[in-house]
Amino acid sequence: MKTLAKLMPPLMLLLSLVIIAQPLIPRGPAGAYDLDTLGQLPVSSQGRTKPLDSVARNSLMIVSDRQTAVIDGKRQPAIRWLIDVIARPVESSHYEVFRIDHPDVRSMINAHDSKQRRFSFDLIGEHEQALRQQAILAEQVKRGQRTVYQRHLLELFQHTSTYLNLREGLSPYALPPLAKGEEWRPLKSELHAAHEGHEGHAAPSEAGKRLNNIFAAYRTQDPQRFNREVALYADMLDAKIPDITRKARFEVFFNKLQPFYQGTVLYVLAFLLGCGSLLTVGVKGSVWSATSMGVLLWDGIGDTIRVSLTPKPGGDRCEEVYAAQEILQSLGLRAFAPSVTACPGCGRTTSTVFQELAEDIQAYVRERMAGWKEEREGVEELSLAVMGCIVNGPGESKAANIGISLPGTGEEPTCPVFIDGERVTNLKGPPEVLGREFRRLVDEYVERKYPLRGEA
Ligand code: SF4
Repeated sequence: MKTLAKLMPPLMLLLSLVIIAQPLIPRGPAGAYDLDTLGQLPVSSQGRTKPLDSVARNSLMIVSDRQTAVIDGKRQPAIRWLIDVIARPVESSHYEVFRIDHPDVRSMINAHDSKQRRFSFDLIGEHEQALRQQAILAEQVKRGQRTVYQRHLLELFQHTSTYLNLREGLSPYALPPLAKGEEWRPLKSELHAAHEGHEGHAAPSEAGKRLNNIFAAYRTQDPQRFNREVALYADMLDAKIPDITRKARFEVFFNKLQPFYQGTVLYVLAFLLGCGSLLTVGVKGSVWSATSMGVLLWDGIGDTIRVSLTPKPGGDRCEEVYAAQEILQSLGLRAFAPSVTACPGCGRTTSTVFQELAEDIQAYVRERMAGWKEEREGVEELSLAVMGCIVNGPGESKAANIGISLPGTGEEPTCPVFIDGERVTNLKGPPEVLGREFRRLVDEYVERKYPLRGEA
């Protein structure tokens, strides 16, 4: 054990050096097409000159939450996805890249596999009209008042617009200013019209012709011609706008180096080195885990998480799983179980009944979740609130699917219950009655709102 402890620092150092050096190791072309040189070509997007590689990475990150895409069964870099979008739009519309997390949005496009998260433009396009109508309705709701469903729906709508702008040649501005007084222009401005033979349209510029040749070679699956055309175009830009091309190349180098990602990896290694044998207990363990992992998860890093907590004497290790689930759920990355919000309590509360009820209902939904999850689509999105007074509690109750407020100091002994923002009843009675009645309301709501799979 002592030997291992001594070896850990140099091993971690070696691993860190390998991780840093790995993207800098020169490699030949990944395939028949020289996508590396293509990715270095400068374009203008969102007011900044950048390489095509950055546009590809950013755009794919927006629609897919990743910088790679699975194409023909293989994981491919973003630039491969982008060249397909531009030059082979029909093929690109089959790629499953549009990330959809909300079950109701997935239902809208008839996607019923609860494990699938990314979908093709083809599938989304089949439901374009319904999507557009819902997006218009969601747009009319004030930003802060939109439901989670409406936010996800609008996001998907914006993602399809991002894709279509690339596909139609509206973005980025790919035609560079090669002569005095010229500005960056979108491909659409001359290529498509000229290509389609629109009469009276100006002939494509030299840059336009060269780009058109690149896309045509890719469209006809001619890698030799493609590589030749890319090299010719790169040489032309080097001669005419050398400063811009140099900056674009440096940015691609920077993209490959991924300094933020590398820094994060090193940070995690250092963290593991320091805490590898640390036993983390209760609140401290949960907070430390959430803080260290939350930073990474928020940046989209990592596919699996593990939380280590020291169990209470005689306790089991379920708390570790619950803590990991809560971290993912609080970041909006996954929903595992209905969330139960309880107020912290304050001078208005004189008893612990609301805390006991919150614990009781949390345990109840966890227990029921095993069955609900199998039977009912989307039930993990359910939100519950248990509040400690009827002065301020109803506000939070209205924001949840079902919320109850218990009477605080000097308040009338009645418990208003809100369902989807509407006051539906007042519960009264001792704690066990309140618990039983609230659980019944939850059961009824779940049965009504989340129909059995196959019945929806
Ligand atoms: S909801 Fe009421 S009891 Fe709870 S913290 Fe707010 S004011 Fe205090």
